[in-house]
Amino acid sequence: MGRKKIVAGNWKMNTNLNEALDLISEIKKGSEQFYGVEKIIFPPFTFLKNANDSLATTTAFFIGAQNCSEHSKGAFTGEVSAEMLSSVGCKFVLVGHSERRTFFKESDEQLILKIQNALKNNLHVIFCFGEQLEERKGGKHFETVKKQLENVLKNFSESELNKMYLAYEPVWAIGTGETATPQQAQEMHAYIRKIISELFSSALAQNTPILYGGSCNAQNARELFSCADVDGGLIGGASLKAADFCKIIASF
Ligand code: PEP
Repeated sequence: MGRKKIVAGNWKMNTNLNEALDLISEIKKGSEQFYGVEKIIFPPFTFLKNANDSLATTTAFFIGAQNCSEHSKGAFTGEVSAEMLSSVGCKFVLVGHSERRTFFKESDEQLILKIQNALKNNLHVIFCFGEQLEERKGGKHFETVKKQLENVLKNFSESELNKMYLAYEPVWAIGTGETATPQQAQEMHAYIRKIISELFSSALAQNTPILYGGSCNAQNARELFSCADVDGGLIGGASLKAADFCKIIASF
């Protein structure tokens, strides 16, 4: 895929249809001039088609889904398949977000199936991972991240990895207001490139976009994005305020 500047907004289970369309239209207006930054928005499933339609002619602005089923189709009441997402104009899907791992007990095996289904349906995957607070405190953060990456990524080829972004999201920083320092983020992102280089190739390691996520906001984005191995951010809370999200987009 290659390195670029990326800002992604994960809206989680927030907004109704009108709020979603207002938010997109404000973000569109406030970020138009930053065409060098790839913008991706992850609204709730129900608004994906409307969101995609409202962005039809906008440069470097894409819609993604927060999740997809590990099954391709069939009797799985309430699930949404990768094919369905693709058919409404989604270009991306998040897989492995810590809230899915924690609240919905998603296992590595499920994540692998989700990625397979996503790639088969031409979706780019943003694969999320990151250590818990106890792991960081116990000095086990590198070990945890290595395992999370190896367990899942070893099942894919280098050409499949080319269609994926990675998002390092330390769980202790998600929605807590506590952000990794730029040093902590840079150190981990460099380590992630080392793992990708060992699993695949140094070319892939250098080309894979790696986002930082965890209480990234309009105040701290510039410092985080200035780190050599940080290609942008996956933003939760601050992506729900158009002015803040646009400031983050302007932070490169
Ligand atoms: C997230 O949910 O991916 C996230 C980074 O959330 P927040 O920015 O609110 O910490």
